Parts: sequence; structure tokens; C-alpha cells
Amino acid sequence: MGIEDSYVYQKEVDWSLLTEGLTLPIKEQVVFGQIMGRFLEKGESKPIRLILGGKTYNATIRNVKFQEKWNHKSDILQIRYVKNGDLARALQVVFSKSYNYLNRVRQSRDKGDRRIIRLPDDAKDFLAIYTTEFDDTYVLDPILSEDVIAVATYARDFSEQHIENEMNFEIDDPSAGIQVSEGVQKIRKLNKKIGDNLKQLYSYRCQICGQSIGEEYDAHVCEAHHIDYFTKSLNNSATNQMIVCPNHHRIIHADNPCFDRSVLHFTFSNGYIEPIRLNHHL
Ligand SMILES: [Zn+2]
Ligand SMILES: [Zn+2]
Repeated sequence: MGIEDSYVYQKEVDWSLLTEGLTLPIKEQVVFGQIMGRFLEKGESKPIRLILGGKTYNATIRNVKFQEKWNHKSDILQIRYVKNGDLARALQVVFSKSYNYLNRVRQSRDKGDRRIIRLPDDAKDFLAIYTTEFDDTYVLDPILSEDVIAVATYARDFSEQHIENEMNFEIDDPSAGIQVSEGVQKIRKLNKKIGDNLKQLYSYRCQICGQSIGEEYDAHVCEAHHIDYFTKSLNNSATNQMIVCPNHHRIIHADNPCFDRSVLHFTFSNGYIEPIRLNHHL
């Protein structure tokens, strides 16, 4: 069972994930959501298997049904496992630093305080969730803050375009002679998968001009662009990526236009405003 063609969701580690389960908004990862959701009607749940570190654990997945009055446009999938059971304990070991931190904060605050505790920015761990060829089996891959720091150190020496090229095309530059750490490789792969997921979502069309370049050659040459530059933000979530054609990608990096998320358009330095034509995920 390979995860080569799988889709992925990246979830920030929090107390719930470490003890009993997690939720996945379908909107952010449409392709992933379709795969997970296609066998579940709203309100339905079914048993699934989760693989972590080569071990298989039982869990359930539920397509949460929202009442109309709450006006939720998108579905949420909820993965649940036994509270502090085998899988939760395994996650607590893998993410021990996060677990200890969250535990400490919970102990020290008022009993009634139920606000979600976020990990500090420089200590965030993530869990990547990959689909497999089996609808009911998913692979969990921990992304530790150490991995993220390794990427930050690595990315420091390169331009945004170089890093993005590596992610879009998986270029291994033999001349660089750089010892790429496991953490860097892991995040590069994860980033590429998230980008590939989006490319499929847009049928390889540029979100700005709508063109699918290379169709007549049976090729797809669209690229994933990071809205907040990855080398600075280290944010590879789907909501920080958009799919663009090579021309638009070049001009964006040449001009560094400002992207306004509220109206989904770029403002270039000469004042030219260019909106996004295709959008399913931002
Ligand atoms: Zn374009
Ligand atoms: Zn870019």
C-alpha cells in the first residue's frame, strides 16, 4: 500500500487530537474531503483504520450533520478514537513535547475554562493524514516542530522560487551537495502533495486566467504558489497555496503584487488589479 498518489490533510496538534479525535473541514481540502466523504451520507459514521508508525488502530469517521439554522455551508468530518486509548497514547508519545505543554497549561488554568489552547508558533506540531487506496484506511504522519525548524534553516539559503520549484517539480539538485535532513524531505513531500491535491481540484487550470497550459501536449504545467511566501511563513496549508500557470507565476514573483484575501485579487505595483477567476478553496 503506497501513499504516492494519496491526498493529504495537515492538522495542527491540539488537546483533542492527542486524546480522542479530530475534525477535518471538507472545504479546505476538497479532493481529500470527497474521498473521505463519498462513502458517508450526512450524519452517518463508519469504522476506519488509522496507521501510525506501522501499527494499525481502529477509529470511526463521521460526516457531521449541521442543522440548517447554523448555516454551515461545508461539511465537517470527525475522526474519533477511544479516549486516551492505544492510538491517543501513541500520539501522546510521538508528540510528547506538545502533550506536556498542553497538559501544563490545562492544569494551571481555571477549571471552567474550555478555550482551545494553541501551541506557541515556534513549537507547533502537525499531523499529516494521507488517504490510501482503501477508503477505510488512512496513514498518520507526524510533522514535528523540529522538522519545521529544519526546513526554516534549509530555506534560508534559497529564494522563494527555488524552494517552490523543488516542491512543484521535485528537483533534486546534485550540484548543491546539501545534506537534506529527513525533516526537510518530509515537509517537501508533504508540501508537494498538498499542491498536487489543489492542481487536481482545479483540473490543472490557473486560478487567475483559467487556462490549462500544455493540454494539447497531454501535459500539465501549472504550479503551486504560496500566497504568504513559504520561505518566510513556512505555511504549506492548502489555504496558503494557489494554482497558477507559469506565466502568472513568473510575473507574481517578479512584481510581488499584494494579494487581498477579502476580495481575492492581486494589486500589482503599477496599480493593475487582477482578480482570481477560479476559486474553490480560498
Ligand atoms: Zn494564468
Ligand atoms: Zn510562487
